[in-house]
Amino acid sequence: MDIVGGSLSGFSSAISLKQQNPSIQVVVHEKYKTIGYNHEGRRCGEAHTIEREWAKWKPMGKSIFNEIYKSETIIGKKHHFTYRKPGMSSCMLNRQEFICQLARSAKKLGAVIQTNDKIKTICDLDGDYVIDASGCPSSVKRELDIPMGITGVTFQQTLEDSNAFVSDTVKIVFCGDFGYFWIFPRDPLKQEINLGIGVMGKFEGNLRELLESFKEEQKITGHVNYVTGGLIPLGLQRPFMHENVLFVGDAGVGAFPLTGQGIYRALVSGDIAGTCIAKGHPEKYPYCIAQNFVKWDMVGKSFIFLNNVLKHVGPNAVFMSYNTFIGLRGGIH
Ligand SMILES: Cc1cc2nc3c(=O)[nH]c(=O)nc-3n(C[C@H](O)[C@H](O)[C@H](O)COP(=O)(O)OP(=O)(O)OC[C@H]3O[C@@H](n4cnc5c(N)ncnc54)[C@H](O)[C@@H]3O)c2cc1C
Repeated sequence: MDIVGGSLSGFSSAISLKQQNPSIQVVVHEKYKTIGYNHEGRRCGEAHTIEREWAKWKPMGKSIFNEIYKSETIIGKKHHFTYRKPGMSSCMLNRQEFICQLARSAKKLGAVIQTNDKIKTICDLDGDYVIDASGCPSSVKRELDIPMGITGVTFQQTLEDSNAFVSDTVKIVFCGDFGYFWIFPRDPLKQEINLGIGVMGKFEGNLRELLESFKEEQKITGHVNYVTGGLIPLGLQRPFMHENVLFVGDAGVGAFPLTGQGIYRALVSGDIAGTCIAKGHPEKYPYCIAQNFVKWDMVGKSFIFLNNVLKHVGPNAVFMSYNTFIGLRGGIH
């Protein structure tokens, strides 16, 4: 059993497989030399909400920067507040530490982790099944000539000694014409924040310039110590399975279309793939994924489609639609 990619979805697959069927040989192939601390193991926002269904993957200890109790979502002139009770149901993840934590658990259970091992073609792999956990864009889907679904794009900066650091609060500001900005707290010792812009669907503007004007407008100060960005697969990325390959994480289920949250989806989809294979029913994987994710994906994607139409009417029409959605959903985080 080969897993391409040693990150969130790769390790949740390995752990799930080994926990449920220790006799299966599991090899995780990671292209970088170190686990977690590389370009694709990003050092960015990392807002992570823990719901009942994925409480099993709750991060511990050093893998949490802050617990988040409050989210403030600003849409036009309206401010929506969502409060969470103490007890770590929402946090800012230290992703690198969390990935290392998962890697240690997978290794303890008997999975083999091979770093500096870029898989150029899955024909070189000899396991009965392959789990593609290579992220977005997926190198395996590229090899199989399977196109990605809808993607969004982000650009973000991490700032030290920032005047906008509020340890327990995330702030999201929606825009009428493209997507949203966020301000997330990171390392409290450095008074660090992550500031970003996320665009749903196609966008031709300059994200860096837009983020700079947002910073100016909000009077946010701080020293930039990290800049990143990349593609976010918006929602389910069909197919979920191709012959003996199961697609997990960004390669298979993508991120929640409206907020770009993909961490929990990576963990849960890896767990489901592991369970299906461990129980001898890999063919059930696409069905299980559909059962878990389709409903909210349809809502999210229809919402993006609707807003792309409303954009032509004007920003207030988009704000009205966001406000209605948040009212119905009861918050964003
Ligand atoms: C800039 C940015 C910010 C984000 N912020 C958030 C957030 O705040 N909250 C949230 O919930 N989600 C966020 N997301 C989404 C989230 O990061 C992803 O959904 C999640 O990382 C997907 O995990 P994954 O394990 O599927 O893939 P990845 O984390 O992308 O990991 C893929 C792994 O596969 C390895 N790999 C790739 N190709 C090969 C190969 N050929 N051979 C061997 N190894 C290979 C890579 O090195 C990497 O380790 C963000 C995404 C981006 C781009």
